[in-house]
Amino acid sequence: MSFYVYNSYGKKKEEFVPLKKNHVGLYTCGPTVYNYAHIGNLRTYIFEDVLKKSFEHLDYDVKHVMNITDVGHLQSDADAGEDKMELGAKRENKTVWEIAKYYEDAFFNDCDKLNIKRPSIVCRATEHIKEMIELIKVLEKKGYTYISNGNVYFEIDKFKDYNKLANLSMEELEAGSRVELDENKKNPLDFVLWFTNSKFKNQIMQWDSPWGRGFPGWHLECSAMSLKYLGERIDIHCGGIDHIPVHHTNEIAQSEAALGHKWVNYWMHGEFLVVDGGKMSKSSGDFLTLSRIIEEGFKPLDYRYFCLQSRYRKQLIFSFDALNDAAVSLKKLKSKIAAVAESVNEKDILDMGKIRNYKEKFADQISDDLNMPNAFTVLSDVIKDSELNAKEKIALVFDFDKVFSLNLLEKDAENLSGVDEELVERLIAERNEARSSKNWAKADEIRDKLNHMNIELVDTKEGVSWKLK
Ligand SMILES: [Zn+2]
Repeated sequence: MSFYVYNSYGKKKEEFVPLKKNHVGLYTCGPTVYNYAHIGNLRTYIFEDVLKKSFEHLDYDVKHVMNITDVGHLQSDADAGEDKMELGAKRENKTVWEIAKYYEDAFFNDCDKLNIKRPSIVCRATEHIKEMIELIKVLEKKGYTYISNGNVYFEIDKFKDYNKLANLSMEELEAGSRVELDENKKNPLDFVLWFTNSKFKNQIMQWDSPWGRGFPGWHLECSAMSLKYLGERIDIHCGGIDHIPVHHTNEIAQSEAALGHKWVNYWMHGEFLVVDGGKMSKSSGDFLTLSRIIEEGFKPLDYRYFCLQSRYRKQLIFSFDALNDAAVSLKKLKSKIAAVAESVNEKDILDMGKIRNYKEKFADQISDDLNMPNAFTVLSDVIKDSELNAKEKIALVFDFDKVFSLNLLEKDAENLSGVDEELVERLIAERNEARSSKNWAKADEIRDKLNHMNIELVDTKEGVSWKLK
């Protein structure tokens, strides 16, 4: 069956034609591990997870490669500002290596909670310096580089399709590089392949190279590592939409310049999560994490469900109220499914024709550039359909949930056990404090939070106690 994807390269929906039959080579840009992922980043990883699982659902074999950026990413994507890893190290008084390890673990922890499947291959930039140096050597030999003030640059004027992905005016393209003008560049859009002359005299992460001791520019790792693990041509490359004007544009330039042919067939980009009118950004320091959402009394899968209620190419406006609506709706959906599960009669016979019919309807939606809202409509049609017996319905829910990954058939373990008692006790103590200082608004707010967690407060002679609702 056909799978349609919106290709950012050319900006239209296209039928997906794999390079190798029933196989998808997928590259997704991974996190820069200098801080926690914010929920806007996580939205992109959820989109990529759904993409991968949708292909797998249609019997494609997906080889998914994701990088971990643990070196070279400066504050601005266009080589300006401070080194993000060094920034994290300074902030927390740790070594850059400790920071990288800690935030990589934290990232995968978040992914596990959100039922995001691990990539087939996870590759760290610092473990692929040799491959990056080899790639620069190829570019140098082909005449795409120059050295200025010790650093090796890619000369974008030598690559004719530089603006093809972004398709922006020169003014828009240059906006990023105007933050801090680098006088060493011939064109402000040229980008660094190798730094030997770091602004940071005590740069810790450094390696030997033919151009001197230093470290790679950020964009290089994705080209070098995808070449190593996925070969010279890739089916799909994904990332957040903010990667289009600089990071992905530069990835294409250096990869295609080195290869001498087209590199990626389909580019797919997840839109922003918007909070209070602005996109969420990790570098501003003020951002929402998954842990914060959990502290507010939500479950990680409430957030996954919230994201799946809209198309990945649309901006999604986040608020705790909207998340609460999603949480309530997921709870209702799960209780409907639980009721169906309870009514299953083991003697019921599965009508494979009916099951196939619904599976096809579901497949039509996920293969239409991941139309998840419509896929949920198919699910609710299944639950409502009086022509289906309970056993058939549950078989379909099980099948669809391989893509949704919302544990739809699991009873909410958190409702029965697994409540974070420490958190509950802490919130109750905070509420008591708020009440004794007559801060009723805060006390109510905490009661609401506990309410989300299905915790009911009980006044006893000994003080406030709690039970599960
Ligand atoms: Zn990348």
